Amino acid sequence: MTESPNKMLINVQNNITTAAKRAQRDTDDINLIAVSKTRSSDEIIPLLEQGHREFGENRVQEAIEKWPALKTQYQDVKLHCIGQLQSNKAAEAIAIFDVIHSLDRMSLLKALAKEMKKADKYIPCFLQVNIGDEEQKGGCAIDDIGSLLEAAANANIPVIGLMCIPPAGIESAPFFALLAKLARDYKLVGLSMGMSSDYESAITIGATHVRVGTALFGPRS
Ligand SMILES: *Cc1c(COP(=O)(O)O)cnc(C)c1O
Repeated sequence: MTESPNKMLINVQNNITTAAKRAQRDTDDINLIAVSKTRSSDEIIPLLEQGHREFGENRVQEAIEKWPALKTQYQDVKLHCIGQLQSNKAAEAIAIFDVIHSLDRMSLLKALAKEMKKADKYIPCFLQVNIGDEEQKGGCAIDDIGSLLEAAANANIPVIGLMCIPPAGIESAPFFALLAKLARDYKLVGLSMGMSSDYESAITIGATHVRVGTALFGPRS
């Protein structure tokens, strides 16, 4: 039997509350981003109807196709860009997204700085870190965090935290712990980490933003 999206949202919210309690953290400090990539507006609307307002998309084009209409209908939606971003999409990204989780290189940083200035819209960003040092994965090298943060500060880009996608198929907790340590070292508060399979563990390690798709919508086709 498949559950309705509403039931799945309640389950995830309950799990977040439980994990936060276990870690003696305030549930309000944990933002659930419903990852709605590949999902139709019809699948998204039940969550909006239930009052959920934070969503994540990984492609600019898909976000542009789905969200302007939904944002008009439902106020206060916060849309998070969680996918790799091309520099030539920086202007469009700033127009549609409220938070960017995938700032990971100097060329993109420069493009975002230019477009933020032009639009006079300085949206919060996470620096994505290639935490498992994987060959063709997005994210900056750990050694580049300092210089990127400095460049972002000089360009008035508000970087609020670090984001990671740990290597697939192995225990993610050590990678979450490493990202949390790096955030502490650089005095950043935000930690975007944890997906459907490991958001509870990410919360006990300090996640402030968990990005959950499958556990809210069912498997993607
Ligand atoms: C798709 C995606 C998620 C959500 O993954 P689920 O396993 O479906 O929860 C989270 N973060 C990023 C960056 C993604 O691309």
